[in-house]
Amino acid sequence: MIRLWKQLAGSIHSWFFRHFRRYTLKSVEEMPEESRIRSRVAYWVGAEGHKCCLAFRCPCGCREVIYLNLLPIARPLWRVELHKGKSFSAAPSIHRTKGCRAHFFLKEGRVVWA
Ligand SMILES: [Zn+2]
Repeated sequence: MIRLWKQLAGSIHSWFFRHFRRYTLKSVEEMPEESRIRSRVAYWVGAEGHKCCLAFRCPCGCREVIYLNLLPIARPLWRVELHKGKSFSAAPSIHRTKGCRAHFFLKEGRVVWA
């Protein structure tokens, strides 16, 4: 009975996490080590005004780190938009072509599944 309850609590938790996860944007000069990337933080990497990458853990639960290129010289290219109250959006949508193939938008720090 306890095990069943734990399973249920676990699946509610992961459902909740998938749908209500919020990322906090953290501006850093250098790319953190992959093992130090926290699950609810999106790392905005690069010098002020010269951000090159956004790195965060995939929201599907697979724990893989996603790196979005922000440098206009390379493709594909994403933009990070800052909002009031430290929230942010990334555009266009993020679609992993390998692994879990998650497809989602980051809007105001929240995950919106495509
Ligand atoms: Zn994933």
